[in-house]
Amino acid sequence: MEDCVFCKIVAKKIPSYSIYEDDSFYGFLDIRPLNLGHSLLIPKRHFRFVYDVPDFGRYFETARKMAKNIQKATDASSINFLTVGEEVHHAHIWIIPRFENDGGVLDLKNFKKISPEEMKSIATTITSQISF
Ligand SMILES: [Zn+2]
Repeated sequence: MEDCVFCKIVAKKIPSYSIYEDDSFYGFLDIRPLNLGHSLLIPKRHFRFVYDVPDFGRYFETARKMAKNIQKATDASSINFLTVGEEVHHAHIWIIPRFENDGGVLDLKNFKKISPEEMKSIATTITSQISF
């Protein structure tokens, strides 16, 4: 879809910190992370909402596997999944690592400043955990 930032990321017209890719789905780090390792999993085809994605079960199974890799890479105490569908109108699952004492209930505006070097490094570490 034209003018969709996530479609442009899938088409590599906008760069991203890639952490997962298969024939249907693409995973990458959120550039406005709530924690180190905060990632997005999107369908490569444009769908408005997560529940519009035809292979819904496989979509969430992929999110679960990605979450396990992220947890291993970041040593997170748990992982939060979030699907809201605002801001970018292309289906996406937020996969957010949580840590002890990181603020309790998720504050959706508490973006962390993480340097490009750290982003690159955690993307590499997540990718190297591959358990797919
Ligand atoms: Zn799109």
